[in-house]
Amino acid sequence: MKAIAKTRPAPGVEIVDVPEPTVGPGEVKIKLEAASVCGTDLHIYSWDDWAAGRIKPPRIIGHEFCGTIVEVGPDVTERAVGDFVASESHIVPRSSAYLQAGLGHVAPETSILGVDVDGGFADFVVVPVDNARPTSRSIPPKIASFQDALGNAVHTVNDGPVEGCDLLITGMGPIGLFSVAVAKALGAKRIVVTEVSPYRIGLAEQIGADVILNPATDDVDAALSRLAPDGFDGTLEMSGHPSSLPLAIRHTKPGGRISLLGVFPQNQQTVDLNALIFKGIRMQGIVGRKLWETWDQMGELFKTGKLNLDPVVTHQMHFTEFADAMELMKAGRAGKVVFTFDN
Ligand code: ZN
Repeated sequence: MKAIAKTRPAPGVEIVDVPEPTVGPGEVKIKLEAASVCGTDLHIYSWDDWAAGRIKPPRIIGHEFCGTIVEVGPDVTERAVGDFVASESHIVPRSSAYLQAGLGHVAPETSILGVDVDGGFADFVVVPVDNARPTSRSIPPKIASFQDALGNAVHTVNDGPVEGCDLLITGMGPIGLFSVAVAKALGAKRIVVTEVSPYRIGLAEQIGADVILNPATDDVDAALSRLAPDGFDGTLEMSGHPSSLPLAIRHTKPGGRISLLGVFPQNQQTVDLNALIFKGIRMQGIVGRKLWETWDQMGELFKTGKLNLDPVVTHQMHFTEFADAMELMKAGRAGKVVFTFDN
């Protein structure tokens, strides 16, 4: 089969011809129908410090994908051949005390598909049965493929009240855009967003953000004070930009929540902690998806038919055109790039 792999510790990836993976106990084999490119794949492609310290080549990359199960391990009863499934990229052993306590998303013993073990940018992939999430056939593969990333948005939005709420979302990368769609589907009253990239501002318009502010051209502080003099019910930080955190603390109302998903370039940030304390704001770090609560919530969201994600899928191409996808993402001229496979 063909696969996209990091074959040596250096920038770039290669298309390789490798044997199809074999199924062991507790595993299922998936024939790929669609896959989606994530920022993590760009880190691996570029071979930055994080990737160099973490990836042990040769490694087939890709952790956001969907497809049909074509074979199950001898002891597998929870999935069957023919099931349509999507990837959860975090592999957490069933024996994990964190998982059993409902904290699988922060389990230290996590390994990641396409990072620590072979991933899904390939004709076939083998994953632990729990990581193949049952998905309705009514969801098109191009959308089903990125539920791992969509789940980050579902997790973040559901970190606090949504229905009838006035929300601020800083940063309109794919997960920020997904968060707008999820919050709308869950009945948010108004969604105000910030973004500097004209390309992403266009996507935010299409996904249905109510107010879009551009920190490069607008006085965002003044605009937010005018829009929500008492503050927002909640702020979802999706940019990792150092200015967003103080902005969130200033414009979240007393008793509100700040949900942090964006990763900051510097570990240390300076904020007005006393404002946070005296306003009684709850600030929560968000990572991954709750196993499996987030997936259940995501399934319910799809069932409502209110989730409009199409504007985020800006490109579709065959998975062997990986280099084109990387260049689009590097240039910031893509929402989600979705890969197709031969059938
Ligand atoms: Zn991802």
